[in-house]
Amino acid sequence: MMTDFPRRPPSGISVIIVGAGFAGVSAAIECDRKGHSIVLLDKTETIEEITRFGDIISFDPNGARNFERWPGVIEAMQKIARQTSWLDLYHWKGEFVTRQSFAEEKKWGPRINGHRGELYSIILQHAKDRGIDIRLGQRVTDYFEDGEKAGVVVNGQRMTADIVIAAEGVRSRGRKIVLGFDDKPKSSGYAVYRCWFPGKVLADNDKLKHLVVNGDVHCGWIGPDLHFLASSLKQGSEFNWVFTHVDDGDIEENWQFPGKVEDCLKYVEGWSPIVQEIVKATPRNGRLIDHKLVFRDPLPTFISPKARIVLIGDAAHPFLPTSIQGASQSIEDGVVLAASLEMAGKRNVPLAVKAYEKIRYERVHKAQALGVKTREKWHKANWDKIREDPEAIHLTREAWLLNFDAEKDCYERYNDVAASLKGEQARL
Ligand SMILES: Cc1cc2nc3c(=O)[nH]c(=O)nc-3n(C[C@H](O)[C@H](O)[C@H](O)COP(=O)(O)OP(=O)(O)OC[C@H]3O[C@@H](n4cnc5c(N)ncnc54)[C@H](O)[C@@H]3O)c2cc1C
Repeated sequence: MMTDFPRRPPSGISVIIVGAGFAGVSAAIECDRKGHSIVLLDKTETIEEITRFGDIISFDPNGARNFERWPGVIEAMQKIARQTSWLDLYHWKGEFVTRQSFAEEKKWGPRINGHRGELYSIILQHAKDRGIDIRLGQRVTDYFEDGEKAGVVVNGQRMTADIVIAAEGVRSRGRKIVLGFDDKPKSSGYAVYRCWFPGKVLADNDKLKHLVVNGDVHCGWIGPDLHFLASSLKQGSEFNWVFTHVDDGDIEENWQFPGKVEDCLKYVEGWSPIVQEIVKATPRNGRLIDHKLVFRDPLPTFISPKARIVLIGDAAHPFLPTSIQGASQSIEDGVVLAASLEMAGKRNVPLAVKAYEKIRYERVHKAQALGVKTREKWHKANWDKIREDPEAIHLTREAWLLNFDAEKDCYERYNDVAASLKGEQARL
């Protein structure tokens, strides 16, 4: 274990984390900060399998502020993040409607928007620098627990710890022991076409060069049942676009397919010439993905019957992209769980797990609901009203969600929450 990062004294609490996505790695770093000992398992054979997927990902102030506690991380992220503090919104036919500024939110914490793989690599490197035990090629096939321990079956072997954190994304196997049955992911009814390519592809196109030659941009075109977002990063040297659209495709077996430019063009027929031109200019050999948005009904609980196995991140609560909160909420999960374990101590791990659920449950579901609200606001926009009040089309940005320090909140509330849980237990 490396010692040059601030860390609480050893708690004696052993933690297995399944899944090294943003949720799992962040939980590992937070557990390390609090002095717990961690083994982090992922089924992928190489880190490249995790970093090569994805494009733009966003951390709002409530998520990104936690990176400030990990030495060097926020500085490294800011160097590669989009340098805009606004979003320009257009009617789908092309008319400019409003610029939404996020400048005022700076006082709530940093915002980070960047390439998923690049940002992930930064936090993974930090986890490695801390000396966290990360094991790849470890496919977890089952979970078990008793009153004293929890464990996983990994590559056919049993492994145990004081607590198991299931952070394996929307297709989590940990959900079965938590729910008592095998629930299936379902389609959200929406899919996202998404891609990322060099900005120079647009630099010689007279209709599009303004998107990549004057620093970074961030714009969105809003229309019926569809919104199209585009942005450039690193002084316009990289460009990405995504559009969410209605989709009733089957998501049972797979949810990421190579997309075709010609299919995308059908969706944006009649849209702003800029939008159509961006899609047409997309390199045919680039990485255009048709990403089906898997959804789950809100779970009745995030924790197993003996409170030794706990779901975090997308395993607990998949988010719609319009919430811009999926990744931030997955970071908050790890922060609260690690702090609750610290407050409870090794003898009270199940109490910490129950407190984590109590602290997180309502907040996460309120944040999930906001994603639906923004999608409806955009996809069913009343343009007569918006012309009178352009701000009505702004993304919903609420202080309760964004101006929030999950660690501070957990420290402040933990004792009351734990006392009420003990009271409930005594009444049973
Ligand atoms: C391929 C992919 C691309 C994405 N791209 C974007 C994007 O561009 N923009 C965006 O906003 N969001 C994207 N997301 C979603 C985003 O990463 C999550 O919403 C958020 O970061 C929370 O992540 P998570 O760690 O909970 O889950 P995930 O990111 O899904 O990570 C889960 C991890 O668990 C591992 N795992 C799964 N099953 C097992 C098992 N049985 N045993 C061991 N390990 C297991 C997986 O290999 C994976 O590393 C993407 C997700 C995926 C999976």
